[in-house]
Formats: sequence, structure tokens, C-alpha cells
Amino acid sequence: MDSYQVLYKERKGQVLRKAKFGCLTGTYALNVTMGCGFSCVYCYARGYTNAPPKGKVYLFTNLPYLLTKTLDGIHRRVRPDYVVLNTASDCFQDHPDILNITYQVMEVLLSRGIGISFLTKGYIPDRFMGLFKRYCHHIMAQVGLVSLSEKYWKTFEPGAARPQERLENISRLKDMGVIPQVRMDPIIPFITDTEKDIDEMFKRLRSLDVKSVSLSYLHLRPAIMDHLKRELPSIYKKLVESLFQGQKWTHVGTSTKTKLVPLGLRKKGYQRIKSMADRYGISTFICACKNPDLKGSICISGQIASHFRPKGALRDEQLSLFC
Ligand code: SF4
Repeated sequence: MDSYQVLYKERKGQVLRKAKFGCLTGTYALNVTMGCGFSCVYCYARGYTNAPPKGKVYLFTNLPYLLTKTLDGIHRRVRPDYVVLNTASDCFQDHPDILNITYQVMEVLLSRGIGISFLTKGYIPDRFMGLFKRYCHHIMAQVGLVSLSEKYWKTFEPGAARPQERLENISRLKDMGVIPQVRMDPIIPFITDTEKDIDEMFKRLRSLDVKSVSLSYLHLRPAIMDHLKRELPSIYKKLVESLFQGQKWTHVGTSTKTKLVPLGLRKKGYQRIKSMADRYGISTFICACKNPDLKGSICISGQIASHFRPKGALRDEQLSLFC
């Protein structure tokens, strides 16, 4: 795995902020780090203006304290039912200090009856599983997994956990009473959506009792294109460039400059993937947030977010797009 440096920082201001994008709009969210050590080459969050450079991650060390104060303090301003964790980073970045703070944050929330939602491409350590077992009805988990290919992993997500480890997460979460949803995002035409790869993936997911998979093809933004150019081998770079050639910049979520994979290609691809999933009894849906031109659905986080959307007033804050 690629290494990264953790820089320690005190968080200032409100600790829980309302997301302002897609299906999570209005839901309380919290990021334990600024930046993400996994550095996936296609990561949207790496392109945000406040994102640290590749290889550096800021860890907010005072989060457990601030969160406790916010939730229990005399002047408490907010008591959400549900919090989305790490909308622009990953809960399970493999650094002991990040994991410690993440654990404490989760414990502060769960022990107060507040549900949590997370999406991860990391490996979930055993001690978290113990916590999840105690609070399994308050955990909404999504595992990001787009391909089982080691070559894909090493090329596109070299800092994240191996595909096999992510499958193990699913199995271990299931043992704790949490059935995660799988998020196939970003699907990359001709690289991760071949019949053989998808079939192998659904076969494995079926064996782990996964019921639901959300689908989304790759997006392109100017910053992502820069990362792809710098970090991908030329054969992939050329393929990605050719996919988006002639596509117009369009408005998706909070971004005014996004290119989508051509509509025809996406439609056919989603239909093909759906048919394959059907054979294994797995339901698929197109992520509505990332496919504004198609009829999509909202993922488990979005569904729960809309159920628990807070009525209270906290300052609206721009957070990054769920990666
Ligand atoms: S895509 Fe997610 S896991 Fe990958 S670098 Fe971005 S925040 Fe981290």
C-alpha cells in the first residue's frame, strides 16, 4: 500500500455540519480527517480546494472531545438521530491514530443511540467489529468495491485495502448482524465492466448474502483528469481520455464542471450489469446523485438520511461529495 503522512490538527468550530449535496442534503456529517491516505486516482475529494496534497492527511485529534461536548453540553445545539461519517475521506485509513480517533467518534455516537453510516474501501479492524456487534441496529455500512482484479486495485486504488480484504469486511460485518450494501463506483467502461469481471464479482457477493449494489460510472472533473494523467499508465490514460472526448462539462451535484460517460454507454452498461446481478438474486440501482440524466435511486445512506433528516437549524456547510 502507498504510505502517507498524518499531520495533527485541532478542529475549530462546529463539529457536526449539514451536508449539502445529493441525497445527503441536510444530514449531519463529520469527517475525521481532511484528505484521505488511500489516494485513489479517481477521487473527487482530492480535487477540492481545501484538500491537502497527495501523501498528507490532517487528523482532527480533538473530535471525540468536541463531539461529546456538542452532544452532552449544557448548551447543546444538536442531537441528531443519525450521522454520516467521512464523506470526503475513509473511516478505516490504516494509521493507528486515525483508527483510534475514528473508534472514539463512533463510540461517542453509538453509545448515545445515534446511528452511523459509513462507506469504506479500507480494512475494518476487529475491535470495530466488537463495537458494531453491540450496536448493529445503528450501523449502515457500505463497502466500496468495483472489481476483484488485483491489477485494477494496484492501478486505481493502490492505498486502499485489497479486494479480498473488502470481501472479508462484508463477511465479518454480516457475522455482526450488519449486512452492508456494496457500492460499485466508479465503474470504468472496458476496464471494470467486462462480463467476466462482473460475473465473478456478483458470484462472490451472492455467496456473502449481499442483497443490494449501487452502480455509478466514472465522472470526470478537471482535477481528476490531472491526477489520472499523472498517476495512470499511459494505456489507461488514453482509454479514459477517449471515453470523455466530446462530452460537455455539465452540472452534477455541487460541481459545475463534470463530464459523464456518454449516456448510451452508461444505459447499456447499467442494463447489462443489472441483468447479470438478477441472475444471482442481487438487486442493483443506479446512483441518482451521480446520474442526473437517468432515472436512479438513492443508496442506503440517502434513504436513512431522508428518514432522519434533522429539523433543527445548524449552519449549512459545504462538504465534499460522497466519494
Ligand atoms: S475515493 Fe474515497 S477511499 Fe479513495 S481516496 Fe477518495 S475518499 Fe479515500
